[in-house]
Amino acid sequence: MLTHEAYKSPADLLAQDIAEQRQNIALRKLIRGDTKRRWIALTFDDGPHPNYTPKIVAILRQHNVRATFFVVGKMAEKYPNLVRLLQASGMEIGNHTYDHVNLTKLNEGAIAAEIERCGEVIRRITGSQPTLFRPPGGDYNPTVARVAERLGYWMVLWTDDPGDYAQPPESVLRRRLFTNISNGGVILLHDGVSETVNLLPQLIENLHKEGYEIVPVGEMIPKPPTP
Ligand SMILES: [Zn+2]
Repeated sequence: MLTHEAYKSPADLLAQDIAEQRQNIALRKLIRGDTKRRWIALTFDDGPHPNYTPKIVAILRQHNVRATFFVVGKMAEKYPNLVRLLQASGMEIGNHTYDHVNLTKLNEGAIAAEIERCGEVIRRITGSQPTLFRPPGGDYNPTVARVAERLGYWMVLWTDDPGDYAQPPESVLRRRLFTNISNGGVILLHDGVSETVNLLPQLIENLHKEGYEIVPVGEMIPKPPTP
């Protein structure tokens, strides 16, 4: 019996591998929330920005919506009052590195330094340590994901990228934003684009009309099973 038990079947090994991927080896990342729930997350990257953040926050507050802002450390450092505005408005604040660099080009120590430095800026301003991290450009590899996890973060990617940073005409942006949305969607937007600000009220109203609940992306992170 013992010798037999020592050898796992390929099915067991596969099941274990899948289980590992879903747990640790598996990169601790979120692309989409639970698709059984009619919910959506709006995420704004690259701020804070003095010309845009206050406008975005005002629109979100008018519609009683909370969103997630993946801030760049050096921007947060330059505009701490905007970070405080986000915090005071109930927005979720995530880490988008200090210098907005492609982390896959860095060694492990430099990756950690980029993430830690941004986290430290956020912590100094808000008094709390962020737990969400988004790699600039979505560029990550297993090292990036593992460093982020070691530093206490969930890596957050996205399901919808309307490409607002390239400032397409509003009609194009509207079509990209309004047609592909589905349950658990995580929408990538940017804090620093006029077209996004202009379309935001309509986007929110449209999502609400279609029955979506709009949540900060952190709410989509799976909860650990209760023992
Ligand atoms: Zn970015």
